[in-house]
Amino acid sequence: MPEAAAQAEEIAAVSETTEAQLKQEPSPEFVQLLSPASELLQLCDNSPHIYCVVDFDGHIVEANEAAKELYRAAGLARPRASWYDMIHPEDQHRTAMAVSSLLAGDSRISSFRNRIRSDRGYLWMDWAAMSKHDIRHLYVVGQDVTEYQSAFLALSDSELRFRVAFNSIHEGMLLVDSDGLVTLVNRSAQSILGIDESEAIGRRIFPSSIPLLREDGSILTPEDHPLAAALRTGSPQPDMVFGFHTEEGDLRWVKANAVPLFHQGEREPYAAVSTLSDVTESREINEQIQTYMITLESQKEQLEHTNARLEEANHQLQTLATTDAVTGLRNHRAFQERLVEEIMRAERYKTPLSLILLDVDQFKSYNDSFGHPAGDEVLRRLADILREHARTHDLVARYGGEEFILLTPHTDLAGAEVVAERCRTAIEKVPWSVRPVTASFGIATLGYGIETGAELIACADHALYAAKAGGRNRVSLYTPALGKTAQN
Ligand code: GH3
Ligand code: MG
Ligand code: MG
Repeated sequence: MPEAAAQAEEIAAVSETTEAQLKQEPSPEFVQLLSPASELLQLCDNSPHIYCVVDFDGHIVEANEAAKELYRAAGLARPRASWYDMIHPEDQHRTAMAVSSLLAGDSRISSFRNRIRSDRGYLWMDWAAMSKHDIRHLYVVGQDVTEYQSAFLALSDSELRFRVAFNSIHEGMLLVDSDGLVTLVNRSAQSILGIDESEAIGRRIFPSSIPLLREDGSILTPEDHPLAAALRTGSPQPDMVFGFHTEEGDLRWVKANAVPLFHQGEREPYAAVSTLSDVTESREINEQIQTYMITLESQKEQLEHTNARLEEANHQLQTLATTDAVTGLRNHRAFQERLVEEIMRAERYKTPLSLILLDVDQFKSYNDSFGHPAGDEVLRRLADILREHARTHDLVARYGGEEFILLTPHTDLAGAEVVAERCRTAIEKVPWSVRPVTASFGIATLGYGIETGAELIACADHALYAAKAGGRNRVSLYTPALGKTAQN
């Protein structure tokens, strides 16, 4: 016979036996003793709860319908099967302990939960048992709590998962109730705040004995702590940084974000939750960066100052390199540079450009007669006169020795002649102290065969030579169209 069929047959047989046992007529004394319970059980026949009377070995004596059904479903196959036989092996010890405390008279009623075998698998049962020592029996009341237990287990499971997640979050998390007392604190928060869960739960995180600091060094009262503020104001308290001294005496800085929690439709928060992060290190790094920035800033200022001085020195060098020491006019080099620029400009914009070259007459004898310093004085006075007569865009330079140059952009030969003539007259009119001083002028203009700076200088020089040859103290024009030098 297959095993399942054999089991079914066995169960059926036992069922009958159990039924028979249950129906067995007890002795009159026993019935008398038991009758209040039996009557009660009849009353309970329609109840889904289990009511039964068992002897101290767990053998059933009386049972309501639900209890009989439970016995049948448990397949209590053997005759005189004990109540203990249908209990899950893992729960038998617990059940026996609960019952033995009854039997020892430690308690009148014992409540316990265990698993009972059934044709639907194991059922979770809540039991209450009462011993009746005079008849050596137990009154037992049971309730199937399988559904409740599964829900409870599922809840514990999700609670466990929540706890694992809650504790593994890197950020600290803290939950307080509406009185500001801690209800949950994860591991990170414990380590940031330097507290144990057991110390924290049910207490204030910061008793008023622990001073909290704001970033500016002022005291943060416990009421202004982000969690307290979230509860009081009902508004989130984002990114609040506060410091406190740890037990070791270190100053620790924490950044907190606190949010109040509300039950639906309620205005008063029932709790507040806060995230915490230790910002001590980042604050230190920030402070270092600030220090570096200040140092950098001052170094930058020094550098800027040095650069400005360098620029100034460069400028002075440039001025020195392009200035004539005796007269303060631009020197030969500066003139050459400017000449190149002016020729390019004149060519590009098709504008005239003239060059006036002048040379002091008989200057050698002046020096010879009155000394070199007196000659220098003459040169300086001449420089002043030329400056006075030059226009903004004209260049006045000392060409070399006792020769000067006036470079006159936008000026044709005739225009340059006017300028030169004014200068010549002005020199002549100076009431020179020891001896009259005069100068001769040669002028050339770009164009008509004069293309380069060198040609312009050579032609002006050519005209100057003509002025000297013509008797000095005069202006000569180079006239390339005629191929000859004109004098006035
Ligand atoms: P001319 O009319 O033909 O130009 O005669 P000059 O004597 O002026 O010409 P010359 O070339 O013979 O002499 C130029 C003199 O200019 C010679 C030199 O002593 C003088 N001289 C050149 N540079 C300076 C200077 O910087 N200071 C002084 N005091 N004299 C200078
Ligand atoms: Mg000369
Ligand atoms: Mg001369």
